[in-house]
Amino acid sequence: MNRLSLILILLAVMVIGVLALYYFLSIPTPESIEFIFERNKSDAKPIKLGREYRTAMKCPVPGKLTMDAKIPASASLRFGYGLAYRPKQKKRAPVVFRVFIKDGNQEHMIFERVLAEYGNWKEAEVPLDSQNMKQVKLGRSKLIFATQLKTSGNEKDAAGPRAFFADPILIDSNRPPQKRPNVILVSIDTLRADHLHCYGYFRKDISPFMDSMAKKGILFEQTITQCPWTTPSHASIFTGLYPSSHGVNQTIFLLLRARSHREINVTYQGLDPNIPSIASKFREKNYITQAFCGGGTVSGDIGFAHSHSGYVEIDFAKESTKPVKKWIDEHKDFPFYLFLHTFRVHAPYTDLHYAHEVLDSEQTASLQDFFKTADKVLADQPKKMKQLGILRKQVTETLYDGGIHETDKKLEEIVAYLEEIGLLDSTIIVVTSDHGEEFGEHNPKKIYDSHGETLYDEIIRVPLIFSIPNSEFSGRRIKAQVRLIDLFPTLCDFADIKTKRSGIQGRSLIPLIEGKDNQSRDAFSEAIVTGPEKKSIRRPDSKYIYTFKIKDNTLPRGLISYHPGYEEFYVLDQDPGEKKNLAFVKPNICFERLKLINKTLTRKPASVRHLEFNIKIDKDTEEKLKSLGYVK
Ligand SMILES: [Zn+2]
Repeated sequence: MNRLSLILILLAVMVIGVLALYYFLSIPTPESIEFIFERNKSDAKPIKLGREYRTAMKCPVPGKLTMDAKIPASASLRFGYGLAYRPKQKKRAPVVFRVFIKDGNQEHMIFERVLAEYGNWKEAEVPLDSQNMKQVKLGRSKLIFATQLKTSGNEKDAAGPRAFFADPILIDSNRPPQKRPNVILVSIDTLRADHLHCYGYFRKDISPFMDSMAKKGILFEQTITQCPWTTPSHASIFTGLYPSSHGVNQTIFLLLRARSHREINVTYQGLDPNIPSIASKFREKNYITQAFCGGGTVSGDIGFAHSHSGYVEIDFAKESTKPVKKWIDEHKDFPFYLFLHTFRVHAPYTDLHYAHEVLDSEQTASLQDFFKTADKVLADQPKKMKQLGILRKQVTETLYDGGIHETDKKLEEIVAYLEEIGLLDSTIIVVTSDHGEEFGEHNPKKIYDSHGETLYDEIIRVPLIFSIPNSEFSGRRIKAQVRLIDLFPTLCDFADIKTKRSGIQGRSLIPLIEGKDNQSRDAFSEAIVTGPEKKSIRRPDSKYIYTFKIKDNTLPRGLISYHPGYEEFYVLDQDPGEKKNLAFVKPNICFERLKLINKTLTRKPASVRHLEFNIKIDKDTEEKLKSLGYVK
């Protein structure tokens, strides 16, 4: 063998070695958790028991669901199970829930529980490395989820319970979970940016925790919501789309008419589960996804529960942080995405922390008594305040501030818990709001529970604060104007999740955070809560608002026809309060902005062009809408 062939052989070996190395490196690392519903492409959907939606499948009673599974050598299986009432069901017989592993023709039972309680989810965790697994051949097997009635003989009376299995997850005990940051997105409903001290509010003690987050983290000075009320705004946050694109842009009254079930032709379009959302993208990346929210206008049945393993209607700031902390503790070993929402700042304004500044002790005591005894606190608070002679802007705004103060403390509790269990260093926290609140800025009568009907800055400017562990960019305040639709691609970037830019109207904020970009982004807002539709475009120095000259609330709201509507144009750097409408002296600019609105808000991404998801509202949501004042 001459020297040349030796070199050639050596070269060939090296090339093969490099190729082999490349091949092995390019194989994706196996995940430590596997969602059984996804592996089986099941048609699981959100099912509500008690106050919690879980991604679940109905199992006949008696009957079974068979799922493919690849069982690792050492693993555990987590899932939920529960029973729902059937209308007119007289007797509620207990049901036996069982799980088997099928290996060839052999079925090995790994779980058995009798459940007599209806209307609540139960959790199960079954270790699969115990004695009973020794006989099972590992690798590809089947999991069988089965139910059976447990009756004392009178099967007829007890027949027909609805049984569900929720989101089974296989956890490989030998494989450490992937190192990915947890992401917590906090939406403090109705929180206007300029009432936080870190955004310049005069009260130094209103929001000490959020202020410290902003100081240590990253604060965006100008963040604009895409919609002035809760339902469409959250749909925009979740999908990175304008309301006219995701389609959840109809009025609250249409939502209520659809809810009443009295008119057969009236439906409300909820959030279509086929539209990619933060939760669906994170789940694709093997994150466990969960939400705790205030219900009502963010209720799971409007389409928001999709792709969440659990979507719980418990308000962390109004009720308790305990369920949130418990959930975090149970999932601390896996990357998670957690959405937290609260109505504590939203009317009724029941927090009296600053009340002594504007009320005497007798007035405060009367209010306290009213909060304890009234049936409809939200609807009747203005009447009560009028009776007491205290219904004025200074008072409602001061009480609103009390809600911010209390919410700040609750948020601090949750973050302190993350620190206590050692998760703070691996968790990105984002705090924002869906819209602001008016206190008479443009209409002296609008001083209580007023949002949704205008697009002025007190309504569309919201806070946006990021806490990013060990970030070299911490401490920045970013002046460039951004939008809530930018959150979806930003959160995906944090978790290294690829998104199709063509399918999202928002753009990642990472280049702004890293200082690679400093350009403001045009921010469009639309889909007002009721009445003639308004659409606006805001730039840091100016705002244009177009109001439709149409009264019918049910008309499609996506297009502006070119018949003249009412126009407003404000030069924000000279007139930040938006008091001097210059539309009549700036017709050319107005026409250019109107064209821009039409061009942007009528160009739906192809991925959502033909989707439609009409919903029915459940009874609990109706009650919640009542308690929030949307149903009289
Ligand atoms: Zn809201």
